[in-house]
Amino acid sequence: MIIFKDPHKIRQHLESLQKKGLKIGYVPTMGALHPGHISLVNQCRQTCDVTLCSIFVNPVQFNNSEDFKNYPSTLESDILLLEESGCDLLFLPGETDIYPDSSFRNKHYELGNLEQVLEGKFRPGHFQGVCLVVERLLTILQPDDLFLGQKDFQQCKVISLLLHTMGRPPRLHVCPIVRETDGLAMSSRNLRLNPEERALAPQIFKNLTFLKEHLREGNLTQLQKEAVSRLETLGFKVEYLELCNTENLDPLNRWSPGLHGVILVAAFIGKIRLIDNLLL
Ligand code: AMP
Repeated sequence: MIIFKDPHKIRQHLESLQKKGLKIGYVPTMGALHPGHISLVNQCRQTCDVTLCSIFVNPVQFNNSEDFKNYPSTLESDILLLEESGCDLLFLPGETDIYPDSSFRNKHYELGNLEQVLEGKFRPGHFQGVCLVVERLLTILQPDDLFLGQKDFQQCKVISLLLHTMGRPPRLHVCPIVRETDGLAMSSRNLRLNPEERALAPQIFKNLTFLKEHLREGNLTQLQKEAVSRLETLGFKVEYLELCNTENLDPLNRWSPGLHGVILVAAFIGKIRLIDNLLL
């Protein structure tokens, strides 16, 4: 695996590969890699000639400075994992490579309702920061294909919208959520759970599964309230647990078979905020 820090050098290298007709697939990450990230690398390797990964913890997408300060960093083991998984290129930019001056941070994206609901509502400015970094990374790297995880369902919707505004966007692949054997969605933030919190964490997925299995035609409000109350009784602080339309994330108030729905949840265990979702 070749590691690049300089955006100009990696651009030159990628251009020479693309001139040879090789298809570049790209997996953006914030590091602290786990098998969920590696599943994206594997999907990329199966689809493209060259697999490119980046690690950059983007300060502008953190609406909470503590969360940014405490974001786990495991660079040495990340590099080993990527090498083992057959990743070809790793881009490790510094903050000034991504944001050379303040003008790069000032753009505003029209995301409509997508940034008013769910993550958008509870993390103001988060998706603006996500769009800034993704547009910068895509402008530098210009990959043919882009691999994202369904774990960040709303982020996939936002980035898909962003891609529609770009000149030569990569083809988007959304990869399934990888879970621990007890159902907990793998996440870099799981590293920060203490043993008791870790033991409780799988209840999030258990609740989503319970809800899915008990869906019946008609009003969903009662079912949703019960799910929130079950989690809160166990000690979670639930920010949202909502059933939404998969296309635009509008709330689904009634259920009928054939609808394309998704249940999305964000909940704190102690100080750690976890998100998950389940397609219906
Ligand atoms: P992050 O490093 O958290 O920014 O994640 C980088 C990419 O990996 C994003 O596209 C995530 O959606 C994806 N990802 C994170 N966790 C998982 C998981 N458990 N399963 C599949 N993809 C994941």
